[in-house]
Amino acid sequence: MLDLPVLRDDKPRVGVSACLLGRLVRYNGEAKRHGTVADVLPRWLQFTEYCPEVAIGLPVPRPPVDIIATETGQQIRNRDGLVADITDALHACADDVCQQNARTDKTPPPDGMILKARSPSCGPGNTPLLNTNGQQIGITHGGFAARLKTHCPDMPMVHEEQLVRAVDIEVFVLRVFLYREQRRWGNDGKNVAWCRDMRARIMTLPSTDIRARLLQQLEKQVTKK
Ligand code: SF4
Repeated sequence: MLDLPVLRDDKPRVGVSACLLGRLVRYNGEAKRHGTVADVLPRWLQFTEYCPEVAIGLPVPRPPVDIIATETGQQIRNRDGLVADITDALHACADDVCQQNARTDKTPPPDGMILKARSPSCGPGNTPLLNTNGQQIGITHGGFAARLKTHCPDMPMVHEEQLVRAVDIEVFVLRVFLYREQRRWGNDGKNVAWCRDMRARIMTLPSTDIRARLLQQLEKQVTKK
């Protein structure tokens, strides 16, 4: 059971890979709907959907792409040459997401991201890295996720397989709230009551390591101002 209040207003905004919400946007025309993400997390978070491969103009369905290590660096492309290298386009898509405030609208960048595991575009750190013969030689970030990390290194970012146990879901939601509040404090000064409540919630978490990590994050922000 999650010990978090269900929010109606003022939910943090989290970006989500559209296929996890059931959108038929994958290379094979299918979705990868994830029940916890689609049905449970909206109690505390509001979502903005992203499918970077569709956003850069690829059709549905489309040939699958991989991340391939070459002499000139990693390339995200189809191994049979059916889709040319889309690395730069995926980076530009992430630039758009993170720089929305400086662009035309006033929507700030998200307070967190839930991304599809192992995707060459969305995978946050667990996507296979292949050599030119198609053999796996390591793991890496998908192109979209890698660029998001560069822009917003502290933004909470997980894949759906990290949201299985109740404690993991609770910690992710708390991290998103913390991150959002940190950004607000930058403009509005410290929120003492919120800070006290957050500290109390963190102290109820069962894992000593997670408690220590979240409290450290909280203290860092409180002492920053
Ligand atoms: S993993 Fe990302 S790029 Fe691939 S279909 Fe899902 S949202 Fe689109």
